[in-house]
Amino acid sequence: MNILGLVLFALILGVALKKLGPEGEELIRFFSAFNEATMVIVSWIMWYVPIGIMFLVGSKIVEMGNIVLLVTSLGKYIIASILGHIIHGGIVLPLIYFAFTRKNPFTFLLGLITPFATAFATSSSSATLPTMIKCIEENNGVDKRISRFILPIGATVNMDGAAIFQCMAAVFIAQMNNSELNAGQIFTILVTATASSVGAAGIPAGGVLTIAIILEAIGLPTNDLSLILAVDWIVDRTTTVVNVEGDALGAGILHHLNQKEVAKNQQELNDVYVEAVPNCKSEEETSPLVMHRDQTSKPTSMAVPESKESVL
Ligand code: ASP
Repeated sequence: MNILGLVLFALILGVALKKLGPEGEELIRFFSAFNEATMVIVSWIMWYVPIGIMFLVGSKIVEMGNIVLLVTSLGKYIIASILGHIIHGGIVLPLIYFAFTRKNPFTFLLGLITPFATAFATSSSSATLPTMIKCIEENNGVDKRISRFILPIGATVNMDGAAIFQCMAAVFIAQMNNSELNAGQIFTILVTATASSVGAAGIPAGGVLTIAIILEAIGLPTNDLSLILAVDWIVDRTTTVVNVEGDALGAGILHHLNQKEVAKNQQELNDVYVEAVPNCKSEEETSPLVMHRDQTSKPTSMAVPESKESVL
């Protein structure tokens, strides 16, 4: 599960293949075809996702036996974590998306219902990745170059949901041990939770083990982690949804910024004015992007600086 290593290797291989030129194209075509085939398989799988989700969640509930006892003893931790995920995923992340794009974040999120359901059912960012890539490209029109670069990295390192539940877990364990946390310890929890969420793997319960880093940092026993692990199958569902939502909104923001930049460059190219006497021959020879203007009709207060180039 060395996902980060795989991502890094893929990036370096991509650069190397591009450097090979025509010789590398065969392998690039092979990977592209392989990727397209995977996408087709994912679209077939998506047809039975609702039934699969029902059985995945149902089997867990049946497995637990005395679920009421577990939920009441750890209830507050579970509710606080899920509430944190709802606030972050339902308010904070959409607001960040809105601040950058001025577009409705919920319209964007609506196109990603299937990957969110997959994340909820599998509790794995890595397992959700193919569905997420497919939906974000097809439903939200995000550029393939952005989605296929950002989402695999995001599924590995960007885990907002994990950072939230890890902070909750650390505070919960501190309270269980009757340990009063001071401001310095709370700050340590925030910093180490951010770092340990990056280290967590995108698999079920991937973030539980790295809570040990936080507990060690604030001097709490790590053996209470088993309690967190016992209820992680509940909390991990919303954790994973928020983890993948953060990646998707990040890709959406980048796509928007990229589109804005492309539009700006287009505008700059359109605004090239050439001081020239138009004649048929020169018009044929110069770039189609260069506009020939009649100098007599030129406005006196032109804001755009003009090129002094003359076309013969
Ligand atoms: N299950 C989470 C994910 O795959 C990781 C975690 O346990 O925090 O994103």
